[in-house]
Amino acid sequence: MAVIAYVLLRTKPGTSHQIIASRKIPGVQMASSVFGRYDAVLVISAKDMDELSKTMYDVIEKHPNVEHSECLISIPYPPEEKPKAPAETYSVISFACPSCNGLNRQGAAYCRLCGYAFETAEDFLEGKHER
Ligand SMILES: [Zn+2]
Repeated sequence: MAVIAYVLLRTKPGTSHQIIASRKIPGVQMASSVFGRYDAVLVISAKDMDELSKTMYDVIEKHPNVEHSECLISIPYPPEEKPKAPAETYSVISFACPSCNGLNRQGAAYCRLCGYAFETAEDFLEGKHER
């Protein structure tokens, strides 16, 4: 599953601007120097955790002035529940009427189109099929 991470970096004083070059690293969507408790923020997207680790490593390896990093992995938005099939929906096995060829539901006693009376399995076993 795709991963988005916000990476907070502390750098050696006066070097946070170097992190802007991280934008060239594949997977780094954004890299900014910031004011505050951290010196730079990156947004990284990756196809999975392995790729995220690799991108993190690339960033930190290429910036020896990074003193501290914190990787905040975003929580995936809960996937929408697949709509359940309506309760009244059931699978229907249909068969063709021998008289009119219209489709009828399995177990029907009469054709819904022409009214032809179907033989049931019980009829057949009991020898009632010869009318
Ligand atoms: Zn019919």
